[in-house]
Order: sequence, then structure tokens, then C-alpha cells
Amino acid sequence: MSKNEILFARAQKSTPGGVNSPVRAFRSVGGTPRFITRAEGPYFWDADDKRYIDYIGSWGPAIVGHAYPEVISAVQKAAAHGLSFGAPTEGEILMAEMICKIVPSIEQVRLVSSGTEAAMSALRLARGVTGRDTVIKFEGCYHGHADSMLVKAGSGLLTFGNPTSSGVPADFAKHTMVLDYNDSTQLEEVFAKMGSTIAAVIVEPVAGNMNLLRATPEFLQTMRRLCTQHGAVLMFDEVMSGFRVALGGAQSLYGIQPDMTVLGKVIGGGLPVAAFGGRKEYMQHLAPLGSVYQAGTLSGNPVAVAAGMATLEIIQRPGFYENLSTQTAKLVDGLSKAAAEAGVAFCGDAIGGMFGIYFTEKLPGNFAEMMSCNKDRFNQFFHAMLDAGVYLAPSAFEAGFVSAMHDDAVIAETVNAARGAFKAVH
Ligand SMILES: *Cc1c(COP(=O)(O)O)cnc(C)c1O
Repeated sequence: MSKNEILFARAQKSTPGGVNSPVRAFRSVGGTPRFITRAEGPYFWDADDKRYIDYIGSWGPAIVGHAYPEVISAVQKAAAHGLSFGAPTEGEILMAEMICKIVPSIEQVRLVSSGTEAAMSALRLARGVTGRDTVIKFEGCYHGHADSMLVKAGSGLLTFGNPTSSGVPADFAKHTMVLDYNDSTQLEEVFAKMGSTIAAVIVEPVAGNMNLLRATPEFLQTMRRLCTQHGAVLMFDEVMSGFRVALGGAQSLYGIQPDMTVLGKVIGGGLPVAAFGGRKEYMQHLAPLGSVYQAGTLSGNPVAVAAGMATLEIIQRPGFYENLSTQTAKLVDGLSKAAAEAGVAFCGDAIGGMFGIYFTEKLPGNFAEMMSCNKDRFNQFFHAMLDAGVYLAPSAFEAGFVSAMHDDAVIAETVNAARGAFKAVH
């Protein structure tokens, strides 16, 4: 047995499924999860000391590459001064100021420790501010695992959602309505019928949790207009797209200002930081000023904030996103050519440092098209790439991530591996 297999067998005795977050378990692709021992730049190594080119980057945070010296030394310096105080620090002010500067629609921000917590808190705030209960989300978008977001569409357009997880009361799910991504007509219909009851529309403006799927500009514009007309809060969940598709997130690419934004992943540089923020008039409703309660023992943790701030400084250096976009585009281009040579139906898309690969003829434009991509072919490709030392997201329906350390040699090695891997696809 390999060390990975031994560890996985052991892990399953003390932890459900052997993992602390489900996608890590390889259930979708099959096989044994790799237990990681160390990482550097674009690489990580598993328990058998096999090296992989990493295309998940901790699911986004590792945008400057793993163990980047400036980030590590910022963490070491902060840690030496104590790990957590439960009282405010100047670092939190610096981070809030930095976020407001990079994302101008955010006038005030609150730091929390996970994307789930940020989205959950932002939705509570939106409900508190509007005095309404209904929230709209879109099928295929992920907003963390708060009860009201673990919901799928009901049987008809104007029916409320059903829980996607046991343990979520139907009484909670009934306040969430799930609509189709990129379907403006449906959104118009729902607002026309019940606009005055909608507290918020939450959306991934570039979706990264059903593989990579771009919102059409028209879809987001319609959403902006309807929310303004009906007094609903437009909430962009940029936990994944923030600082990833561009410095200012998807909202900077589309030129649309949401009322509230949810951030996570890159913002902590690999340590637990997330945030939600937006219009000051809304944020003023939060405790201790207002009646919407929200709190956290480790919120704004000094060590985590140090990692996040170091990362935010690095990504603002000249040329950072030009390089990141160029490398990501080269990767997708190289993979597409390799697939064409092998005669495999395949296409790819890239925005900033994020990419999607699809085993299908033409780019999916909505959730249903995404779901019709060939999952078996992805799984064959995934394992062939893994054997060749390239670690892709272990699911056909997750996006991929490139770091600033994925240089030409790394991309070339990946594409070369793909030439072999596409031959394993049938
Ligand atoms: C990852 C993610 C979340 C959840 O963040 P966690 O830190 O895992 O709780 C929420 N929304 C989006 C868009 C995400 O990609």
C-alpha cells in the first residue's frame, strides 16, 4: 500500500469519509485522495513524495504561489507577537481600508473567518435591512453551507426551494427561491410577481462552483435594474472571483456595482479570512451599531490578516494580473490544442487566473449545458493527469486555478502531460 492509501484508511477511522471537506475525498473521480506534506510555488508533494503541478491552489487562495517568502515571513512575524487577542488591532483597519480601496462598491466591510460565514451574515443583514425574508439564488451557484443556501429549485417557477441537505428544515428552505443562471426572463417574471417580498438576490457573477461559467452581461444588468426598482439587495458572492478574475473582482470586469459583496479565499492568502461589505447605510445596521447581530471570536485574527495583507500587496504590483491572465490563457490554449490533436471533444475558458475545461463541443452557457459535459471523460483525463504529476480539481464541475508561479515551463509540462492524458480518454 502507498502512504496515501495507508493515511486514507487511517483517516476514515477518526474522521467521516477521511476528510474535513467533502470534495477532497475524490468521490466524484474515484481513487485515493493524496495527502499533502508540503508545497512551494506551483507545486505540492504528497505523502509518497510525488510532486504535482497544483491547479487547485487551495481552491483559490494560493494566487501568488505556495509558501511565497513574503507571505510566510509576514505570518511568522505576526505569530511571534501572539496568535489572537479578542480585542481590535491596527492590522484589521489596514485590511478594511485596503478592501474598500480595491473594491470601490464596498464602503464598509466586516472581517469573518470563512466564506460560508460571510455569505450567511450578509444575507442576515440584507433581511434585517429590508425587513423581508425571501432570497433568490441560482442553481449551480455555491454560497457556502448556511441552511438557507443548501436549497434546490422547487417544482415550478414560483415555488420555493427544497433542502439539498438533510438537517435543513423545509421551513427555512421555503424562504429561498432558486432560479436558472443566465435566465433574465425568469428573473423578470419572478420580480414582477413578488418583487416587494424579495430581500436579496445573491449570485456568483462569474460562477466557479459548477465549473467555470460566465454570467452574460445582460443577466447581471437585469439583476441590477430589478433590485434597484424593487428595493432588494444585490449581493455579489465574489468569494471565488474576487481578486481572482481581476484585482477588483468580476464587478470590475462587468462594470456593475452590487449593494453588497462577499469575499473569501484569496483575501486570506491561505489562512482563514473572509469578509462581507458594501453600502455604508446597510453595514450600519450591524451590531454593535444596529439590530442585526453578527460576531466572531477569531474574526480579523492577526496572523490570518497578516497573510491576507501580504497577499493583497503582492497582487497589486504592476503586471501581476497581465501575467496571471496570460499564463492561464496559455494553459487553456495548450490543452485545447492537445485535445484537438487527440480528436477529443473539448473546450476551455479562462478569466484572469481562473479556468474551466469542458468535455463537450461548445462552451456551456447555462447550468443544464454544463451538466451535459462528459463526466466519464473528465474522470479518465483527471486520473491520467494525476499519474503524470498534474493535480486538477477532483470533479468535472469545479473550476481550476493558476498562480503567478505557473511559468512557461510549468505550463509546457502540463500541456505535455495532457497530450498523453487525452489519449486515455475514450
Ligand atoms: C468557496 C466559496 C464559498 C464558501 O467559502 P468557505 O470559506 O469554504 O466557507 C462561498 N461562496 C463561493 C462563491 C465560494 O466559491
